[in-house]
Amino acid sequence: MGDHPAKGYWFHIEERECRPVSFLQMVIARRHKGPIMDIKSRWSRLASKARRFSIIAVLSIFGLRLSLTAQQIAPEMPMQARYEDGAEFRWLNKKVLDSRVLDGMEDLSTWSFTGAGEMTLTEVHAKDGRHSLRIRSTTNVAQVEGSGEWEDLVATRKFPGEDWGRYNRISVWVYPDVIGAPAISCSLILHNDGSHKLPDQYNEGRHESIILKNHTWNQVVWEIAPLDRDRVTALDFAYSLPKKFPDPGDQTILDIDQLELQSVAADHVEGWDLAPGKIAFSHSGYTTGSSKSAIASDLAAHEFSVIDPQTGQIVLTKPVGKTSTPLGNYQVLDFSAVRQPGRYVIKAGDTVTGSFRIGDDAWLNSIWKAINFMYSERCGTEIPGIHGRCHQDIYTMHDDKRIVVNGGYHDAGDLSATGNTPGMVYALLSLADSLQRHGQEPVLSDRLLAEARWGLNWVLKTRFGDGYRSTGQLVSYWTDGIMGTSDDRFGQAVNNPEWNFRVSGVEALAARVLKDIDPELANRSLMIAEQDWKYAVEGLKTAPPLAEVYGAQDELERVSFGVVASVELYQATRDQRYADEALALGDLVLASQERTLQPWTIPLTGYFYTSPKRDNLFHRFHIGQEQEPIIALIRLCEALPEHDKWMKWYSAVVLHSQYYLKPAAAVDEPYAVLPAAVYRESEARLIPESKNWTPLRAADRDAYVEEVRRGIPLGGENYLRRFPVWFDFRGNSSVLLSEAKALSAAGQLRGDLEAEDLAQKQAQWLVGRNPFSASVMYGEGYDWTPLYSVRSGQMVGALPVGIETKGFADAPYWPTQICWTYKEVWTQPVGQWIWLMQDISVPATVRGTANPASHEPVEFHEQNSGQVTTATSSPRDGEFNLHLPEGDYDVRQGSAHTRVTVLPGGFYDVDLRFDRVLDFKVTSQDLGHNQVVLRVSAEGAGRHTFTLRSDNLTLNEPSKQEMDQISGGVREAVWHAHLVSPKTPWVAVVIPDGILSKRREVTGSENPQVFVGHHPGPSKTP
Ligand SMILES: [Zn+2]
Repeated sequence: MGDHPAKGYWFHIEERECRPVSFLQMVIARRHKGPIMDIKSRWSRLASKARRFSIIAVLSIFGLRLSLTAQQIAPEMPMQARYEDGAEFRWLNKKVLDSRVLDGMEDLSTWSFTGAGEMTLTEVHAKDGRHSLRIRSTTNVAQVEGSGEWEDLVATRKFPGEDWGRYNRISVWVYPDVIGAPAISCSLILHNDGSHKLPDQYNEGRHESIILKNHTWNQVVWEIAPLDRDRVTALDFAYSLPKKFPDPGDQTILDIDQLELQSVAADHVEGWDLAPGKIAFSHSGYTTGSSKSAIASDLAAHEFSVIDPQTGQIVLTKPVGKTSTPLGNYQVLDFSAVRQPGRYVIKAGDTVTGSFRIGDDAWLNSIWKAINFMYSERCGTEIPGIHGRCHQDIYTMHDDKRIVVNGGYHDAGDLSATGNTPGMVYALLSLADSLQRHGQEPVLSDRLLAEARWGLNWVLKTRFGDGYRSTGQLVSYWTDGIMGTSDDRFGQAVNNPEWNFRVSGVEALAARVLKDIDPELANRSLMIAEQDWKYAVEGLKTAPPLAEVYGAQDELERVSFGVVASVELYQATRDQRYADEALALGDLVLASQERTLQPWTIPLTGYFYTSPKRDNLFHRFHIGQEQEPIIALIRLCEALPEHDKWMKWYSAVVLHSQYYLKPAAAVDEPYAVLPAAVYRESEARLIPESKNWTPLRAADRDAYVEEVRRGIPLGGENYLRRFPVWFDFRGNSSVLLSEAKALSAAGQLRGDLEAEDLAQKQAQWLVGRNPFSASVMYGEGYDWTPLYSVRSGQMVGALPVGIETKGFADAPYWPTQICWTYKEVWTQPVGQWIWLMQDISVPATVRGTANPASHEPVEFHEQNSGQVTTATSSPRDGEFNLHLPEGDYDVRQGSAHTRVTVLPGGFYDVDLRFDRVLDFKVTSQDLGHNQVVLRVSAEGAGRHTFTLRSDNLTLNEPSKQEMDQISGGVREAVWHAHLVSPKTPWVAVVIPDGILSKRREVTGSENPQVFVGHHPGPSKTP
């Protein structure tokens, strides 16, 4: 078991010194054992109510409050998981095919014990025979100092180098009689001395944070099928104590019995192949307008059905499709055509999936659960059933001043407070803001705001007011709450420009979102944002260049956060110095991007370097930040729509999305999960020789090169890795979600449905559309495994560090065992989940004006499905307003028609009035010799202008062309263009009538494979 000083964030935290001991203790609430509420069923009823409303809201809009889709009551928190849906329930119910008793605990001669305690045989509890093995702490004092490996009580059973290859599961029974531990967790460590020694440097062989129920026998099973076990020498049973100072009455007794080897049908845990007999699908479900598919590999059936399990009604039957991809041969079940909101199962032959949701609210449960996890991770307050008021004695020093840094959130399964808090607040505010502006889900948006305020409070309270701030404090145990005792943890404040930009951006966003709800807090937040920004800008002038260390903080990340904070403050204050800073830092972001299409086996461009020096590639293995330069560029596009550089920012976003992420994802079809990044062998030099940064503790340069070479060869020293190159920290939830956010945000800017759909698939992957058909979010969907949460126990809505890889391999590995390096619950990706939901879960709002004199209905024809949605317009002024699922729509009222591409979270304006209606499309033609023709074909009425903005093109004609529109005819505007740089993709947008939000994009490159055209971008303002 390990504490991990840099996990969660990498700002350096000074270690604390010990202080004299006092034995008064913080009181920690015993784990609450109240009745398990059936929240799920209550929830489903509410959700079905919401479904009916949502249909009404879509079909009959004008004059109806759009908030009718809302869930009316927030679920009670902390929420409880439905245990039967999890993997542990399934494991414990597996048929045991063969077994061998290793130890019945009637004899101590093969056991040894270490720790401040004792090991005895006891007759008090026995699962089998007369005795069990009892370990008991005599001091109840945790030895952990906050870093390094630790176990307080370790009972070791020795074996004479046995070959356990015939068995694949260890089973042992444990009866805890523990007082004073909010969560009771033990661990098992397998020692193999054969060809591959265990435990190894990547923590194979460890099964930790096994959460036990108190005062009952718990069967603990551990599938060891993927582990080397040819010469087993020992098995440790270990326990770590949760406090340095026990409370009066604390007691730690664990009785262990009936240690067995077993043989079972082992879970499929490694590789891209699909688990036998399973169908991989999104357990949360699919939004109405998204593509919907499931994946299988061994179905005998030739067709499949989608069925409503309540009524038995078959809503779709289709042939099972086949596909061959770089990953192998798969069966694909495409049911995109199902758009009727409801709960469904997929049936193919005898194989039936669990039920899942189709509807615009498909992600709703996952959002509530994510909030539940954040709430459960709150530090400094009582969380019923999890912990009491905590960590009142952890603080940050600055000269002779100190700030208590509880509040905010625990980082993860241990208790560090809480460097992820700013990012979480940013995400909560962003989703709440979107829901509010769309008039959707008021109960949810209120709850998001309440959670955001909790985190914001921490952001505001951790400043010293002179540029120095606390970035959090490491602590991995429950403290006594008394300042001055030796369990206090403290560190030094930092004046870090990046941190100051980050918090400034969060505070400025809070000021905007809370303006009407809490003007005083909003105002204070804004003033502090300005102060933090000032210190960031000052600090940046003198900040030394950041050392280039693999996967660590870099210049691009710093300047990207700087752009976001500066833009937000510019929008709040209209003070030009904020715009000037945003522009200057935006230039650095642009200069850090590759814009030349690389002559690789997969031509790619648009990815980033770590700085304008362009020496090293921007990629991460732990906290992903792929989104931040993209968010920065998008914010510039939004804030400064008429600026000369607009097209540079816009085209940079296009390049990253269209010429990097999308073609990269194609290698992982049919999952379409985004690969990690392009890697180069020579980046091995960025692995420091001395590894004082914990995540690189087990790193070495040869291993780096070896891992890089397991990626997809692109040419020369370049490889596309599906998973990051990593060492002891290995799990990709954050990296994947950061890429998904980059894609979804770019999709919003570009009106790119394909990007949005691909972003949906990243979320779908995490909740079951993966080779294990397992959701990794605890309590959401099916087959979620217990996660590492050693101090707080299992929490619904937790996402782990993520799916890992085995050794140097580049394929997913999701073993049944638990280790903090990949299965630890983590607030960081849960914040990213919420942030992604801003772009993929909120139905769009379409507003428009029809002809008031016409009695014809306004019809939205979805192009893929043919589904027609009718909007009712006001007889007075012709206005209408409705929510629509994502899709390409042809909009008609009588003979008036136009089109609109709708993405979740967007606002779209449609004008169908007879004298103004305009429908246009943009096409391009590559004439060769670097010549391109761009053509606008328009029909409608009235006079219109079309303005072309382009990057990497010189135009023969003026950028603005005017057109007298004649009813009934198609008119064209044509531009002849010349590529400035043939090796760089060109990007153009056509803007009708000077209305930027109605632009349509077209892009191309000399490589015809990556050509693509697009439809209008959404307006971000309501
Ligand atoms: Zn705490």
